[in-house]
Amino acid sequence: MGDLVRALGRSVVDAATEEDGFFTQLQDAESAIRDRIAAYLDAALFESVLASEVRALSTCGAFDRLFDLLTQFVSQVMSYRWLALSVGRPSHFGLHVHPAARAECEGEARQALDLPAETAILRIEDEDASADRPSAPPLVRPVELGQEIVARIALSQKGVGDPQDVRILDVVARELGGPLRIALLVEETQRAATTDPLTGIMNRRALLAALDVEQARSERHGYPMSLLLLDVDHFKLINDERGHAMGDQVLTALGRLLAHQARKTDLVGRWGGEEFVVVLSGAPEPGARIAAERIRSAVERMSVLDEKSQRVAVTVSIGIACLEVNDNAEVLVDRADRAMYQAKASGRNRVVVSPTVLRRTGTEIEIPKELL
Ligand code: GH3
Ligand code: MG
Ligand code: MG
Repeated sequence: MGDLVRALGRSVVDAATEEDGFFTQLQDAESAIRDRIAAYLDAALFESVLASEVRALSTCGAFDRLFDLLTQFVSQVMSYRWLALSVGRPSHFGLHVHPAARAECEGEARQALDLPAETAILRIEDEDASADRPSAPPLVRPVELGQEIVARIALSQKGVGDPQDVRILDVVARELGGPLRIALLVEETQRAATTDPLTGIMNRRALLAALDVEQARSERHGYPMSLLLLDVDHFKLINDERGHAMGDQVLTALGRLLAHQARKTDLVGRWGGEEFVVVLSGAPEPGARIAAERIRSAVERMSVLDEKSQRVAVTVSIGIACLEVNDNAEVLVDRADRAMYQAKASGRNRVVVSPTVLRRTGTEIEIPKELL
């Protein structure tokens, strides 16, 4: 590159001595050319670093993580008031704002990206965004992959804005389509593999994996843990008398009710057919009984209406098993299953607790008197 600049410089000097009107106007031409080449190379290097940072987001595996990392590095190379990214389907909306300007910036971003107020938001708040007042309308760019618009990215510049900001946003928008599509696909694949499509709660596989983790945690810390197995009473009758679609509606309503009833730390999943599992972490037997009874009664009162707006009566039988020493997930579910069958045998719409051998209560192990 040095040789090239020197050669160019020489030819400019030679041309100038030939009294060409154009070249004689170029005073200090050699250094001007060198500066321009250096500036051009700087810009190209900056762009390629920016592009490779954006491409590296391909490994994120989820929208939330991708947006978090994107804002971390974009906020290092430029200053903005807010940066937003929105995907149409499945719907995602990420916004990076200064905590002091949260509401105002969210309104501006929703307007710039034409998002209704109910679109769920992933909000990242920190002082890397600026709390200045806006002085120019936000910049909005489509994020494309091939012919398709995958998402839209928008930002509100800080102060009067730097022309460099526009270039950065253009590079980010140009490079983001591929990484974003990959992250969304990975997320969707994971969701499909772990979610029951009818009810939207965990499927059996995901529940077993989560139960294993929960059980190991309870063992290590000596916490109690209980598992409820629910089975819909006479579900076959609902299917036979009102049709399979109505049966599906009942299962969907049950999934929603259980997810609503459970605490954040509980696990709720569809075990299969018309059976559901709820894992209550930290709950010893008395707590589990109360929770199970609350669920049983809520199901009994639940309103599922048929096409004639008539109430479909639904009840469940619930078996409870509490974590014992040296248990594993399979044994625990099996005990809850047997308790559930007892509940069926003794009249349905009731809760039965599995008998205990060696139970954990808090940090101690309680050995039933009859075994001593
Ligand atoms: P019990 O009180 O003894 O549990 O009676 P039940 O009729 O509920 O018991 P059973 O296990 O014989 O019936 C379960 C039924 O659930 C049979 C099956 O057709 C139905 N089923 C399983 N999965 C689904 C589903 O995804 N949707 C619908 N609509 N029905 C399902
Ligand atoms: Mg069953
Ligand atoms: Mg049943």
